[in-house]
Amino acid sequence: MRSIGVFGGTFDPIHFGHLRAALELYEGLQFDEVRLVPASIPPHRDEPSVDSGQRLAMVEAAISEQPDFVIDERELRREGPSYMVDTLQSMRDDFGDISLSLLMGLDAFLGLPRWHRWERILELAHIVVAHRPGWHLDEAEEAEQRAVELLEERRAEATILQERPAGGIVLRAVTPLAISATAIRRLIGEGHSARYLIPDAVWHMIEKDQLYR
Ligand code: ATP
Repeated sequence: MRSIGVFGGTFDPIHFGHLRAALELYEGLQFDEVRLVPASIPPHRDEPSVDSGQRLAMVEAAISEQPDFVIDERELRREGPSYMVDTLQSMRDDFGDISLSLLMGLDAFLGLPRWHRWERILELAHIVVAHRPGWHLDEAEEAEQRAVELLEERRAEATILQERPAGGIVLRAVTPLAISATAIRRLIGEGHSARYLIPDAVWHMIEKDQLYR
């Protein structure tokens, strides 16, 4: 069965934490393709500080040499907030009965029960949760218990991604890189360099356009 990974984010800016996790999941779980989906108006957070064309251009620059990584612009082309459930539904309509996997960091997964129509998400896709090696479920906080229960109910072996189109949750350890876009924006705002946290091509764009100053 054809299998596609879907990696959504604000990518404000895209950094090696995103890219390395996406690559390790791509190689380890044998996706035919990883689609990076920049969000337009994120429902769960403040407006991004850089416009969507610039965020898109940075993602393009970051993945230009990586085979099977593609940009999916559907959230930027859509009016209104970027709900992942709508994105997955529209991919399902486009791609038919393939395997779709929503890739997310553990932090994002623990907040999933607050997402718009989150239960529908698992009817449309699998979820692959990238976590730090050695992390345990009992470290989750009270507010995150629903996500932990969901994981216990739906947890599956990685082979499910090749066998079924949707419905499983797969936990995968990836190399932990403690990089966040928030910290990168702060660094640049304070006049420091963000080099070696992001691809050089992305850093050159930030410098040229004076982003995040
Ligand atoms: P911000 O600091 O602005 O909140 P971010 O760096 O967390 O941004 P997002 O675009 O919000 O990046 O995240 C998109 C996805 O990437 C989420 O699923 C998140 O869990 C994951 N992610 C972010 N940083 C890392 C990282 N360092 N390692 C692995 N996954 C990450």
